[in-house]
Amino acid sequence: MTDADARTILEVSGLRKHFPIYGTLLKRKVGAVQAVDDVSFHIRQGETLGLVGESGSGKSTVGKLILRLIDPTAGEIHINGEDVTRAGSGRMRALRRDIQMVFQDPYASLNPRLSAGSIVAEPLHNYGEGSASEIEDRVKRLFLKVGLRPEAMAKYPHEFSGGQRQRLGVARALALEPELIVADEPVSALDVSVQAQVLNLLMDLQQEFNLAYLFISHDLAVVEHISHRVAVMYLGKIVELTDRETLFRDPQHPYTRALLSAAPVADPQVKRDRMILKGDIPSPINPPSGCRFHTRCPFVEELCRVEEPLLRDVAAEHSVACHLTDSA
Ligand code: SF4
Repeated sequence: MTDADARTILEVSGLRKHFPIYGTLLKRKVGAVQAVDDVSFHIRQGETLGLVGESGSGKSTVGKLILRLIDPTAGEIHINGEDVTRAGSGRMRALRRDIQMVFQDPYASLNPRLSAGSIVAEPLHNYGEGSASEIEDRVKRLFLKVGLRPEAMAKYPHEFSGGQRQRLGVARALALEPELIVADEPVSALDVSVQAQVLNLLMDLQQEFNLAYLFISHDLAVVEHISHRVAVMYLGKIVELTDRETLFRDPQHPYTRALLSAAPVADPQVKRDRMILKGDIPSPINPPSGCRFHTRCPFVEELCRVEEPLLRDVAAEHSVACHLTDSA
């Protein structure tokens, strides 16, 4: 559990990202991919919010928007109370120190021509964080923090195993002492035996530095292991948001229930109804009317096809977007 009174680091409200589609003739806009549509959530200091959903749900786009790798179509992203969607490039550079990223594929995200030590030192040099020898000392300490030997500073990324490369990615993300790390599928490219080690490392670092994580993953077991709260996304929208225990014990949204019913259960005491999801996730270019899940929902009613259900509180700190769920 995290401290409910902890300071809010990240507050996202009404976030939208629609990628325009242009026709081949006259290059006119003919539609839009509604990748993220009216998404709101917050993350407190020292907390992990898991963002879970199938491929195409928009969860990675949310991560890119928060990091300002892409601009939102609408909405606000407040970091420590400041709206970064309005920050100029100078201010954004300062704010970037506070948010770092750990990528899915550590190999693709590490410069193969730089030594491991130079990779971790790079952000420190970019921000003028001390003399060359001070930076070298900090890099050594970072290597030890993430479970790498300082002698490995002279090696190149291809000389590391997958798990060690991800430790290197974590060391680089930590270098500027951020408050929030956006981790996009950080263990899905790793062997299962190595996944737990990297997850435990992230949890230890969170304890030590009071870090907040936005942890993006399609893997429910991984999300259950690391998250304090979980947001479930479907076709660009959050459909359920609550604490980890409630979500895995008593999911309310039919989509969450379907996802959980398809996932293996470690605890034999936990019984879940089997709910098979029919078909694939529809295209975000032309999402279904009303409830976006209505084309696959076994409980669909006429209202679901015409009216969009809003994300409403069904209990304290538990929100669900479904017409069949009673509000608090
Ligand atoms: Fe299913 Fe209707 Fe609820 Fe959507 S609103 S999840 S279609 S019951």
